[in-house]
Amino acid sequence: MDKKIDGATLSLVRGDITVEETDAIVNAANSRLAGGGGVDGAIHRAGGPSIMDECRKIGGCPTGEAVITTAGDLKARRVIHTVGPVYRDGRHREPELLASAYNASLELALKNNLKSVSFPSISTGAYGYPVEEASEIALNTVIGFLRSNKGITLVRFVLFSDRDYGVYKSTLERLLP
Ligand code: ADP
Repeated sequence: MDKKIDGATLSLVRGDITVEETDAIVNAANSRLAGGGGVDGAIHRAGGPSIMDECRKIGGCPTGEAVITTAGDLKARRVIHTVGPVYRDGRHREPELLASAYNASLELALKNNLKSVSFPSISTGAYGYPVEEASEIALNTVIGFLRSNKGITLVRFVLFSDRDYGVYKSTLERLLP
């Protein structure tokens, strides 16, 4: 499913982010940049050890911020690692920190002249963010960014399950009828 936001495309697909050919793919990392399970493990496995070498040099990334590395053997040019919040009850700045993770990733893409960016559904796996709530924050933040910044032409959400894809699709239809 695609929507036009000013000159840019916002796209939802079901799939595996490690095979995306956008300029950048975003990793849902942890604050030590230590690798792990979920999408983080999949990106490091598919991209090879050069990504972790750079992560070690960078050392870490606070929640809500983002850092950039090589993409190693992946088709994307760079990997942007961002750290979403661990969901507790929604009253510990989770919405703000989740929005910040998306904004920081897009700002870093812009600064590095990367025009197309793929995101996974940050924080909705091991970090426990309810996907209905997270999808609204994710999509609203990206829409807001594309409306107020020129330079990024494609943002794609790569949803790993049919259920997540369905939730993102119905949220986007509600936000942009
Ligand atoms: P977090 O710790 O931020 O919750 P996870 O990696 O546990 O990160 O989960 C985030 C989302 O990424 C989940 O919806 C999970 O299903 C999804 N995911 C896992 N592997 C992939 C992949 N290869 N491509 C895209 N999304 C993936």
